[in-house]
Amino acid sequence: MRQFQFAYQDQDQLRAELIKIRQWCTSSVYSHIVFQIMTETLDQELLDSVCAEIIRQLPEADFFGCSSNGNIIGGEFSEPDIGIVCTVFEYPSTKMEFMQYTLTAETVNEVIADVINEIEKRPWVTAVELVTTIRGMSMTSFCEGLQKARADIQIFGGGAFSFDLYDNRACIFSKKAGISENGVVFWLLGGEDFHVTSTFITGWKPLGKTFHVTMSDGNILYELDNMPAYEVYSKYLGIRNNEHFFYNSLEFPFFYHHNGIDILRAPTESNPDGSLVMTSDIEENVTARLAYGDPWTILESVQTDGRVIKNFNPEVIQIFSCAARRTFWGNTEVSKESLPFQNIAPTSGFYTSSEFLRTNGYVNQHNVTMVVVGMREGTSAVRRKGELEIDQSGFSGKVSLINRLASYINAAFDELEQSAITDGLTKLHNRTEIQQRIGERLLSGQVMTLLMLDIDNFKQVNDTYGHQEGDNVLIGLANMLKSGIYENNPDADAGRWGGEEFMLLLPFDANYAKLAAADILRDFNALRFPKAGQQTISIGVTQARAEDTLDDLLVRVDQALYQAKNNGKNRFEVL
Ligand code: GH3
Ligand code: MG
Ligand code: MG
Repeated sequence: MRQFQFAYQDQDQLRAELIKIRQWCTSSVYSHIVFQIMTETLDQELLDSVCAEIIRQLPEADFFGCSSNGNIIGGEFSEPDIGIVCTVFEYPSTKMEFMQYTLTAETVNEVIADVINEIEKRPWVTAVELVTTIRGMSMTSFCEGLQKARADIQIFGGGAFSFDLYDNRACIFSKKAGISENGVVFWLLGGEDFHVTSTFITGWKPLGKTFHVTMSDGNILYELDNMPAYEVYSKYLGIRNNEHFFYNSLEFPFFYHHNGIDILRAPTESNPDGSLVMTSDIEENVTARLAYGDPWTILESVQTDGRVIKNFNPEVIQIFSCAARRTFWGNTEVSKESLPFQNIAPTSGFYTSSEFLRTNGYVNQHNVTMVVVGMREGTSAVRRKGELEIDQSGFSGKVSLINRLASYINAAFDELEQSAITDGLTKLHNRTEIQQRIGERLLSGQVMTLLMLDIDNFKQVNDTYGHQEGDNVLIGLANMLKSGIYENNPDADAGRWGGEEFMLLLPFDANYAKLAAADILRDFNALRFPKAGQQTISIGVTQARAEDTLDDLLVRVDQALYQAKNNGKNRFEVL
């Protein structure tokens, strides 16, 4: 595999470069020549003239490409509008084919069914690269359809974009079917000597509060935590709901867990009703957090997550990197995260509207992510070994201010979340939280016995020894519960139900829980409080039944406790 990369200047320079490639090919053995053309401009006349020149100079070559938000040539952001990458495949065993389709919300299922069918017919396919337009549709059925391809096939690619983030136009094209503003090009690759590896790198980290998607429909995200999704951006980041929303929110995508991995998703639009348009469907009940980028963290993840590419020993590297990353770094700095790969092998690519990658069988649409692909023909033994050196200039070695602030915010949010579910006096779960946990356990159908504990004659403790001593007794019981049976059982839970009442959830049946209840009575009896001395409690015990509602269960445990009180206190009763 041999690669020629250059930025387009004018037709004369293009012709000269193409002649050089032709000369190299004449004196070499090769099987395929493929041009990838990445263009910031949508000037069709210019693109036509570039393609025409390629056909003139190298009639046997294939070409395809798309509009982009910027191009990577030689591992660096390339200023000129058009980047051209010519890959010459040298092994006769390497096979490839191109397919181009019109892609809209209406045609997507047909397109995917056809491409899967074509892949099926070609057992040699080991990789599918794609460039696609994405605006005006959710890419969910596209991704879910593609993952029906044979499990061993790697799938990766990028969404076409334009240089102007405010411009919704984009295009893809190929020698096969010309230029299209709504389309997709698939490049099928394979053969016994063709090898490919792919990975994704973000470096973005979750920030602050965890939100629940409480209302969504397809790729429209209506509500997070029961409030309009847009309000997360206005309330926490001060981003306004206007024509700049896309630009302003780009660097703060959502982190959410999907198909077993953490995926970054940025909204593409905010609607007047406060809903957000996402690039793929977002399911209800999943959790999402805002994410932030920090230069140092990003470069560290290039070094660690990029290792699989280095170890693969590729001959060429392709990067599909999100336009948001270019916006984040700026044109002069953005190369810091792509240039390290140039040490490994010639690196090219473009800034995308979405990054596509198959991971664990699933085809995912990413945002704000760098998909990195290494390719080679033949074995890996002979290649030179470069290092993923990152440019450390501009970093003092101190953790950045952004990172420290983010870690402050995360710690503060953890504390807040913790305090919202914790009882202040006893530090056990509060009533809302323990009830929630009891409810979840009941729904799971797993075995559970509930113990409701109530301190006997507690009013007297207060009246005789003062409120302070009353508090001591409450804390004493809580600590006993914490250090006792429930701390030794990760599935057990305890909470303060109110006043001097506590609830204990045990992952056992009633027979076993009865032993625990007896232990608790005995252990509490053994405590000695400074003024109140020895005190007692009563316990209601009941096991959850299959037909129980949460209410049934809570009423029954209360009745069991009532019986224990009625039958003389300092005892437990089972119902
Ligand atoms: P029984 O044996 O039937 O349970 O009688 P009791 O006195 O324990 O029950 P009762 O419900 O009459 O009294 C509960 C008392 O708990 C009344 C209230 O002042 C006290 N209490 C509730 N919350 C707290 C608290 O946070 N601290 C203190 N010190 N007392 C509390
Ligand atoms: Mg009570
Ligand atoms: Mg009581």
